[in-house]
Amino acid sequence: MMDSKILELAQKIDPSFTGVASYIGGEWVFGDGDDISVFFASDETEMLRYKDASPSIRNTVKEITTTAQSEWMSVTAAQRGLTMHRIADHMEDYLEDLALLESLSANKPIRDSLGEVKKVIEMFRYYSGWCDKIHGDVIDVPTTHLNYTKYQPLGTVLQITPWNAPIFTAGWQIAPAIAAGNAVILKPSELTPLSSLLLAVIAERAGLPKGLVNVIAGYGHTIGSSLIDATLVRKIVFVGSVPTGRKIAAAAATEGLPCVLELGGKSANIVFSDADYEKALVGAQAAIFANTGQSCVAGSRLLIQQEIYDSFVSDLARSAQKLKVGPPTDEKTEIAPVHNRKQFDRICEIVTSAIRSGINTPDGRTSLDSDRTGLYVEPIILMGSNSDECAQEEIFGPVVVAIPFDTEEDAIRIANDSKFGLAGAVWTRDVGRAHRVAEKLQAGTVWINGYKTIHVSSPFGGVKDSGYG
Ligand code: NAD
Repeated sequence: MMDSKILELAQKIDPSFTGVASYIGGEWVFGDGDDISVFFASDETEMLRYKDASPSIRNTVKEITTTAQSEWMSVTAAQRGLTMHRIADHMEDYLEDLALLESLSANKPIRDSLGEVKKVIEMFRYYSGWCDKIHGDVIDVPTTHLNYTKYQPLGTVLQITPWNAPIFTAGWQIAPAIAAGNAVILKPSELTPLSSLLLAVIAERAGLPKGLVNVIAGYGHTIGSSLIDATLVRKIVFVGSVPTGRKIAAAAATEGLPCVLELGGKSANIVFSDADYEKALVGAQAAIFANTGQSCVAGSRLLIQQEIYDSFVSDLARSAQKLKVGPPTDEKTEIAPVHNRKQFDRICEIVTSAIRSGINTPDGRTSLDSDRTGLYVEPIILMGSNSDECAQEEIFGPVVVAIPFDTEEDAIRIANDSKFGLAGAVWTRDVGRAHRVAEKLQAGTVWINGYKTIHVSSPFGGVKDSGYG
């Protein structure tokens, strides 16, 4: 079962598409497991239903990836680069369709999904240039031997991704893996398989060997966990929540497999009183409310220097009220409904408990109640302290906790008082302070006078509970 508009879009990209199935070796392979249903967030009607992948695909995919990876490595590195460049070109041909498909099927504002598909195009172009630049070294040794190192592909990499940025995360994982000569088995979230599946189709059409990139449609605890197998893959890259990440790392360790974890965050966005006020205000808003707050790097803890705290939170509340809340496919929508019921309930629970505990909001709101149908959460600012549950737990919604601080040391202490360490930002006109604070923040990425300016050419990752590798 599938919504007709989504089916039409998918068939525009691949006329042979008839419904969600795994894409293995260039073929659609239908599952035979339990039913998986996905719902529209705007009205909670069923969007699509499909069957969990069959465990038997493990044998097929093993043979297919081994053959495809040898085929990929049998052409020159320069040729591999050209193919990857062509993937970007082919994606560009379907830019609008892919963005609309992502918006509809991942409940994402179209303005965000358009930007994310463009980022994936950029990723394939960027990594296409790496294919023939992965060199080893010649090592001078005090003998007559020639010692040299050569980078070799691992073989097949298993990538497991979440629902909040499906095509972005798929591109971010697939492009570097194939640039380094590997085959890929990607297991997207069971809630958002479509854009990853169609990305694999487009990549193959651009010239990738059939079976170099395979996408498995199904649950994590069934087919996902069964793919963590050293006879099938050589490395695991996981993007998702902390509890699942820990399970996957444990399973990988049992198999003796290396593992990369890209997990959650509770990033501190620090605004000093000497910052460019207007820019910091716009930055604070974008940091938390983009993609309805469902972003791993969201600036969900807003640390504001005491002198400007009251005016900053009031102004932020005023500008947040002006954000256009609406359905994902409306071009004006800035805040779409929350992706799924489970996520919606979690946001409501944490915010309700925060308000019940006495935490105020600058606009006097006392609940998330709304007269809209669907999983809508209007942006909300909680005037809390860093020890509150809402400041310590990842909420993954349009909810920011505004925390006052006095001094630079105070800001650093509060920012680092978190189990997470994914990202953060510093807003100040004092260049010395900007770099001093950035240096001391326990976070994988720190922006200065900006937020979320992620680029494929720079590394990305977290520390503490936000992951490793
Ligand atoms: P999740 O952990 O529930 O699921 C992520 C993926 O893991 C899904 O594909 C799921 O099917 C799979 N999975 C679940 N159980 C599994 C198991 N036992 N074995 C194998 N696979 C399993 O996360 P989610 O709710 O989809 O995503 C939201 C989370 O992702 C948030 O915490 C967010 O911060 C995080 N995230 C992190 C980054 C980053 O780069 N650090 C980026 C995006 C999202």
